[in-house]
Amino acid sequence: MSFQRQSGKVIDIDVMSSYCKSCEVSKKLYSDKSKSSYQQWQSHHAKSCQKNHFGSAGKMEVEGMKKIFRRSVAERGVRYLSYIGDGDASTFKDVCEDKPYGINTTIEKVECVGHVQKRMGTRLRKLKKDMKRKKLADGKTIGGRGRLTDELIKKLTTYYGNAIRKNKNNLFSMRKDIWAIWMHFVSTDADPQHHFCPTGETSWCKYNQAKFKNSLEKFKHKSSVPRAVMDMIKPIFKAYRIQHY
Ligand SMILES: [Zn+2]
Ligand SMILES: [Zn+2]
Repeated sequence: MSFQRQSGKVIDIDVMSSYCKSCEVSKKLYSDKSKSSYQQWQSHHAKSCQKNHFGSAGKMEVEGMKKIFRRSVAERGVRYLSYIGDGDASTFKDVCEDKPYGINTTIEKVECVGHVQKRMGTRLRKLKKDMKRKKLADGKTIGGRGRLTDELIKKLTTYYGNAIRKNKNNLFSMRKDIWAIWMHFVSTDADPQHHFCPTGETSWCKYNQAKFKNSLEKFKHKSSVPRAVMDMIKPIFKAYRIQHY
């Protein structure tokens, strides 16, 4: 883990390890731990021991993070007020609860749009893989032509990332723009749902483009995704719960 200023300069870093090669070797060499020869070795080795984490491996990241926050003022002369993690929400929560800068200073979570977008793609691909052989409500599988293809995953992920980027400071319109994507793809000629899609001539929504040009009578939905497929990916769109960018 590392901490950077705007300049990109790394100002702190910590390496956590629950393993020490020397300790492992000495365990075998000194079979009797009560002997003074072992204790002598141990007191000499303590300074250079690689093991600095005791307890569960799952707590490793958060323990290291707390250490870095706790020493930042004393050792680096800074407070870290914006936090960008790699998506593990529990680490951020634990660091906040540690109150490294007192009860009146809150740390803001900043999520990298690239990460969020990537996660969306990962979830969709995982869903496709997990559901591979199962039948959906319409009796067909999730994949296949006109269904959750790799091309559609790419499209959904790109539109999703753009919806976030476009609305950095407006959570309400961010939600709206994210739902627009879902509703756009579930739309059919009989049931068009484009009221959240961007309007005008340059919109990515072909329906709204046609509407702008007054040519809706001739418009046909060519890329509708079956409801059964869209219902499967709905929870992934709903899982969206990010507060700050
Ligand atoms: Zn050691
Ligand atoms: Zn649309």
